[in-house]
Amino acid sequence: MKILLATRNAAKLVELRRLAEGSGVEVLGLADVPEFPEAPETGATFAENALAKARDAATATGLPSVADDSGLAVDALNGMPGVLSARWSGRHGDDLANLNLLLGQVGDVPDERRGAAFVCAAALVVPGGAEEVVHGEWRGRIVRAPRGTNGFGYDPIFVPEGEQRTAAELSPEEKDADSHRGRAFRALLPHLEALSG
Ligand code: IMP
Repeated sequence: MKILLATRNAAKLVELRRLAEGSGVEVLGLADVPEFPEAPETGATFAENALAKARDAATATGLPSVADDSGLAVDALNGMPGVLSARWSGRHGDDLANLNLLLGQVGDVPDERRGAAFVCAAALVVPGGAEEVVHGEWRGRIVRAPRGTNGFGYDPIFVPEGEQRTAAELSPEEKDADSHRGRAFRALLPHLEALSG
């Protein structure tokens, strides 16, 4: 059966497709369906944003739809930037400005209080039917200077627990195996398999 992953991010599509291999579920992206208006992400939580996107996609396309929302929660900033991660510096998607602002904000925070987590909520909405929301978390710490060129967003300043390398120094396969999004998508898989019977 076909499901829609409501994203324009090719990496997310590849990741969910790889996980769904052999499950009988074919994962489409937004490029595979007629265009529909996408509402801005204004929810107070990752789960609210993921659910809103999945509901809009399911209503517009009639397909079971998955959407995710994610961000970085820094302990010393009481969980911020959180749902504001993509526009922390005031400009949506300016990864470098976001990262540099955050580094400045935690400049005086000592090493033992630099804990943080990437968090992801993934929602599945079946038109006229069930709604599921699952979460994935990837704990680590914020380093003092960016390292690495893989990945995106805050990857160059995040070192996962048990690692010395930043997330931007991991290969895409290493990152998917542990990341918040990988964990959330894997938690969603049984629900997708149940749909495909
Ligand atoms: P989105 O959920 O893909 O829209 O991501 C929201 C924002 O959270 C991104 O713009 C990044 O700033 C941050 N973010 C989410 N996931 C990651 C990740 O895996 N690495 C680095 N930054 C991330």
